[in-house]
Amino acid sequence: MSGTVHLVGSGPGAPDLLTLRAARLLERADIVFYDALVHPETLALAARAVKVAVGKRSGRLSTAQRFINKQLIDAAHKYQTVVRLKGGDPMLFGRAQEEIDALMAAGIALHIVPGVSAAFAASADLQCSLTRRALARSVVFATPREAAGSRENTWARAAAAADTAILYMAAGQAQAVSDALIANGVPASRPAVIVENASNTERRIIPANVGSLHTAAEHIGDGPALVMVGEVYADITAAGLEWPVSALPTRAPVTP
Ligand code: SAH
Repeated sequence: MSGTVHLVGSGPGAPDLLTLRAARLLERADIVFYDALVHPETLALAARAVKVAVGKRSGRLSTAQRFINKQLIDAAHKYQTVVRLKGGDPMLFGRAQEEIDALMAAGIALHIVPGVSAAFAASADLQCSLTRRALARSVVFATPREAAGSRENTWARAAAAADTAILYMAAGQAQAVSDALIANGVPASRPAVIVENASNTERRIIPANVGSLHTAAEHIGDGPALVMVGEVYADITAAGLEWPVSALPTRAPVTP
């Protein structure tokens, strides 16, 4: 017997930001392999499944990717419905390709379910469009995090060229991010904002600009955070910490 492995996006954290397809799959899953960022309520939907933590949070104890691949293949030989839950959308900075390649090479049936990526959850929290008319017509998703054997790191050039740049896995190296952007021609005054724990009740929103990213990053905790850069954040930067974020989780509309 060989089951199917479903690579499923669990969304940005809030358990009700899961797709219906993901919820239904979890309900009938035999085994679930999940990342550190998956909410316990989401996991609880998999009532009848064996649950295996394969958490990967940078700088913390993690399960080697090759071992995860092997576990998925072994599980598919044993169970009908194998779910691999990944934070946000599985296809963005989620090492999905390693798992896809390994499963395909092993001849295992594969199905992928998209999820709400952190960039979209953070934009919703900020009530600020990534592509605000007249200010932004391009968005870049980038990360300064280098993988072993990666190609020449061109993230900063791409981020500098975009109207809006969303940087994943970047808040922990805010000074280096700031330096790299400035070295690529971004003015230190370009507006920025750091959003930690987007979509969750413990979310934090720290207004900044490119030159002050390091100081801004000191205000965040150890939750996942995005660095967002672009003129679309000018109002947030201008308002500074006075920017109204107190009424979370459902904020009243911001009055200009
Ligand atoms: N596949 C995921 C990204 C995985 S990389 C997605 O589509 O969202 C992990 C990084 O995502 C974190 O370092 C952080 O930069 C970002 N991230 C994930 N969840 C987040 C959240 N709730 N709020 C802010 N950033 C988040």
